[in-house]
Amino acid sequence: MGKTVLVTGGSGYIASWIVKYLLEEGHNVHATVRSLKSEDKVAHLRGLEKLPGSLTLFEADLLSEGSFDQAMKGCEIVMHTASPFFIKGLKDAQKQLIDPALKGTRNVLETVNRHPEVKRVVLTSSVAAIMGDNVDALAKDNQTMDENDWNRSSSLDHQPYSYSKTVAEEEAWRIAKSQDHWKLVVINPAFVMGPSLSKRMDGTSVQFVRDLVGGPLKSGVPDLTFGIVDVRDVARAHVLAAFKEDASGRHILCADTKTFVELADLLRERYGKTLPLPRGQLPGFMVYLIGPFFGLSWGFLKKNLGVRYNLDHSRSIEDLGIAYRPIADTLCDHVDQLKEAGIVG
Ligand code: NAP
Repeated sequence: MGKTVLVTGGSGYIASWIVKYLLEEGHNVHATVRSLKSEDKVAHLRGLEKLPGSLTLFEADLLSEGSFDQAMKGCEIVMHTASPFFIKGLKDAQKQLIDPALKGTRNVLETVNRHPEVKRVVLTSSVAAIMGDNVDALAKDNQTMDENDWNRSSSLDHQPYSYSKTVAEEEAWRIAKSQDHWKLVVINPAFVMGPSLSKRMDGTSVQFVRDLVGGPLKSGVPDLTFGIVDVRDVARAHVLAAFKEDASGRHILCADTKTFVELADLLRERYGKTLPLPRGQLPGFMVYLIGPFFGLSWGFLKKNLGVRYNLDHSRSIEDLGIAYRPIADTLCDHVDQLKEAGIVG
């Protein structure tokens, strides 16, 4: 029989896939969104109502105490995905990132503490809570980070998004350890790509792929390395973390690490010259010269440019049973979707 599951931030890029998989498995999903009136944010969720499970939408805001109470009633599982994810155009990191991430996590988990029916919480953290700058990996064997690592290099002023994810996950573990009626399982995805269920284009992941293939980077790209994972694998991991009886702890979700140029090469194999893909790597001095205009500060470049790292994803395979899609499939599925929508190409 289906379980009742709360998904916070249910209209988000990752959460929408989680909601879809839960409904396909016949569960009763309570999904929170900030505003039920934002039709562009909820239309795709209403489209999922034909699936076997049942979907109920609720309004809730991370910064409003008690906001999640009604949506949590009767839920055995809570998936807390809502947290602001943006890097560009930040004006006040404390207000825009840290407060909703940290106070929001506290708000949701204190609500869980008031609901004895909740037995498990799955938290969407990030590899950003594991490492801040790429140079962090230089101290590790084979420059490989794992779940024992915590990001100790980010702060309010340097990589504030990563800092927001670190303090939020730490707070979640602190609250989880202070009680014994529910269990915390954490998912730490690398950079997420792959097709989106909504038509929204303002998410950081969707914008990244759009920039990569849409022309703005065609003159060249910086020598930066990313861990990458498919949005469908991330959503599947959340479902497995919720229902696998013995799942526990943190889980790095990363199919592989690639540079910008390697991503462009993967796409060139499939699309040839039909897309304005980056032509090659920009020399370091040029990245330092123009980087600040694209939001890449010298402080960031010094600690990330040209530094390779790996993410050990073995726990996600052993503990959750994840089978990773190849990055080329992830990228091409995403680009095909953007092409079909007439957004690129
Ligand atoms: P997204 O589409 O922007 O989703 C973020 C969600 O958080 C949205 O539903 C948003 O609601 C909600 N939210 C933000 N501020 C809120 C507030 N004050 N109150 C209530 N809800 C609020 O981004 P995503 O990529 O799916 O991210 C989902 C989670 O995955 C986040 O925790 C993010 O840190 C984590 N993550 C993402 C990646 C990635 O590469 N995409 C990688 C690792 C971890 P609105 O729709 O109303 O704005």
